[in-house]
Amino acid sequence: MKPQINKVKAAAVIAALLMSGCDFSDTNEPYSAEYIAMDTLVSSTIYGENAESVSEAVKNEVLHLEDLFSVTDEKSDIYSLNNAGGEAVEVDPETFKLLQFSLEMCEKTEGALDITLYPVVREWGFTTGDYKIPDDEALSALLKNVDYRRVSLENNNTVTIPEAARLDLGAVAKGYAGDRVIEIMKEHNITSGLISLGGNIQALGGKPDGTDWRVGVQNPFSYGYVCTLNIRDKAVVTSGNYERYFEEDGRRYWHIIDPSDGKPARSGIVSATIISDSGAYSDALSTAVFVMGKEKALQLQERLGNFEMILVMENKEVYYSEGAKEMIADR
Ligand code: AMP
Ligand code: MG
Repeated sequence: MKPQINKVKAAAVIAALLMSGCDFSDTNEPYSAEYIAMDTLVSSTIYGENAESVSEAVKNEVLHLEDLFSVTDEKSDIYSLNNAGGEAVEVDPETFKLLQFSLEMCEKTEGALDITLYPVVREWGFTTGDYKIPDDEALSALLKNVDYRRVSLENNNTVTIPEAARLDLGAVAKGYAGDRVIEIMKEHNITSGLISLGGNIQALGGKPDGTDWRVGVQNPFSYGYVCTLNIRDKAVVTSGNYERYFEEDGRRYWHIIDPSDGKPARSGIVSATIISDSGAYSDALSTAVFVMGKEKALQLQERLGNFEMILVMENKEVYYSEGAKEMIADR
């Protein structure tokens, strides 16, 4: 994992150097920024006279959220909770809000999303890159402490988790950050902007010339896109088996885990892209849909009705929901 991030970092530095010589005073020119945060490459494009200062405010917020939600940073809320020995912890209102939302999504997805899965994800080595296939005994011991229903939220932003439980908001944090970024742009009277947090893409409005933003849905099997979409005021989030994985004896093991057995989810879906009005919602659903598989995802969509999806299957078939079909620009 490390060399990958370094490469990305180098690209960001080069992009920053190239940009430092530009004049962004023309409001028809976007202000673009790239940096590493939340373990991924973040890039933003903002139109407007105050785009540069808004870009700075956006970056500060993303870094702030990273400080709150990081599993490894000893100063983060999540670290405090994970090391509280079962005691109640008062967290930042933003952390509380995201935990509240996440637990609702765990419930709505019938546990396909489970924010207490961290010990299992860690056992596979997905947190460090030190990969291994755990034996079934180790997994079932760890799964005893996995259950989002044991996270209790009280008033006053106070949270309690069992002593052996560990939280990880990795499946929702980038999407939530996207929502906050859009809010900040709006607060600063921006009407046109785009943010990508490691491929989680969220748009404010359309482009200043009145056209939609054009967003690519990555092909999980090769370079390039499955399709491109026309979007405005939407969050497009993909969970894929190609994002973080290792191979052993010709078999691939990836970072999205089925909470029912603690193993990489093999639902037949290789990438799940969710399009909705909210980044946190799209992010939570992309992970959950990847776990639950196409059939259950269709039922969930029927039930909730407020998202669109593109599912790339193992056999290379691609499923587009009706609303997603209407967004296709090119395929
Ligand atoms: P995403 O890329 O949004 O699908 O999130 C994947 C990340 O969420 C993984 O790297 C894990 O840290 C964590 N994760 C994996 N499986 C699950 C799951 N079923 N529920 C919640 N979080 C998960
Ligand atoms: Mg997700």
